[in-house]
Amino acid sequence: MQFKLQVVVDDENGEVLTEDIIILEKSSDGGGLVGLSLAESKRLLKQLQEVMVSQQARQYTLSHRCCPACNSKRRIKGTYDIQYRTLFGIVPIPNVRLYHCDCEDVKSKTFGVLNDWLSDHNSPELQYIETKWASLMSYGMTVDLLKDVLPVNDSLDAETVRHHLHKTAMRQDEQLKDQPRFISGCQNQWAELPRPGKPMTVGIDGGYVRDSRNRKSNFEVIVAKSFSETEAPKRLGFVQTLDDEPERRLMKMLKNQGLQENQQIVFLSDGADNVRDLQQLMHPESDHILDWFHLTMRLTVLNQFAKGVCHTDPDPGAELLRMLESTKWYLWHGNTEQALEHLEDCWGLSDDPELRYDKRRKLAQHLSEMITYIDSNAYLIPNYGEKYRCGETITTAFVESTVNEVVAKRMVKKQQMQWTQIGAHCLLQTRTAVLNGELRDHFKAWYPELRVGANDVEYEVPVKLAA
Ligand SMILES: [Zn+2]
Repeated sequence: MQFKLQVVVDDENGEVLTEDIIILEKSSDGGGLVGLSLAESKRLLKQLQEVMVSQQARQYTLSHRCCPACNSKRRIKGTYDIQYRTLFGIVPIPNVRLYHCDCEDVKSKTFGVLNDWLSDHNSPELQYIETKWASLMSYGMTVDLLKDVLPVNDSLDAETVRHHLHKTAMRQDEQLKDQPRFISGCQNQWAELPRPGKPMTVGIDGGYVRDSRNRKSNFEVIVAKSFSETEAPKRLGFVQTLDDEPERRLMKMLKNQGLQENQQIVFLSDGADNVRDLQQLMHPESDHILDWFHLTMRLTVLNQFAKGVCHTDPDPGAELLRMLESTKWYLWHGNTEQALEHLEDCWGLSDDPELRYDKRRKLAQHLSEMITYIDSNAYLIPNYGEKYRCGETITTAFVESTVNEVVAKRMVKKQQMQWTQIGAHCLLQTRTAVLNGELRDHFKAWYPELRVGANDVEYEVPVKLAA
């Protein structure tokens, strides 16, 4: 049997136009596939899109032909095609170039009638979907997936998707300028606010991605994730050496997280200098803590060495293990002085040339780094035990590591993945927007007409079909 699909266009002037879209042959004898195939649906959407876009453009052109001031017909200079890119293929649209009317006070002589309406030749939906998917998977996979399910143009490639994602990221950054750098108000005003909820927790972390300009080097990206009782977590990310707005990013994240001006914030980090700079920009109600998880990770590495020592030098090895265990407990109780003393004793042991352990120098090096780390971050080390008993947050490791979620899963999956700083920065902006559930809001703000949610569609069911 044959399925003939037509579209009936009922324009504003009461003119009705019928166009054939597609004719599909389907068997009803038990052979062949049942219903519409993916390839047919793509063809159908593409054809339908062409009819709809060209009819809308035709109507728009007609209604903009006359001068809005004196209503006289403007002369035509010529016509050229716009290639309008949509999720349902590229549609060539004739753009009529008109002469401005004599009564119009403009510099240029002519203008394309569709220029204002279609200033961007990529439909907002196309840009939204490309950006969203490419924030979650590679540019190449995004192109493959789009081509699998939608009649996007065949020439769509990873480079184009990357370009569109960068454009979106730049647009997001543009809005950041309106964001304050610091919490507004003063102590007196804050005191009058209602009692805030529990402290907000912010985990700050750093990660590295491979630099495309220099195969052997990396550059650092900073990521942060905020948690509160009421809202889902929010994230931010930026390239340390490139970004000059980290404060505004932080403020935007905290605001979206629902921060009240007088609410306390607990910053958890691994104490690296760059991370500390960011959190110290914050308001007086903030508390800075070295993340317990990061601290124990470093102790675990030292323990591995100590276990190695036990194989070659049992007695000093056991002594090292014992002292590292005490170090951990001193740190747990915020006693950095005792912890440092123990670490120095460990270092003294590892420095003994009599030791047969072959990684002795490496162990000494790690111990010396740990001593510097504890020493320079001592002011960030609280009495973890007490905080823990009071139900306060001392680590962000109870959820997936932010670096892993924001950076590793998309950017460092394969060793050979390399990034320019700007490329990494842009991807971090759109990826965090997607993970935070904010990308759609950005697009809706830019294109109020955009309908991207499942419940956003407005349509009428024709009477006959409904019956
Ligand atoms: Zn005029």
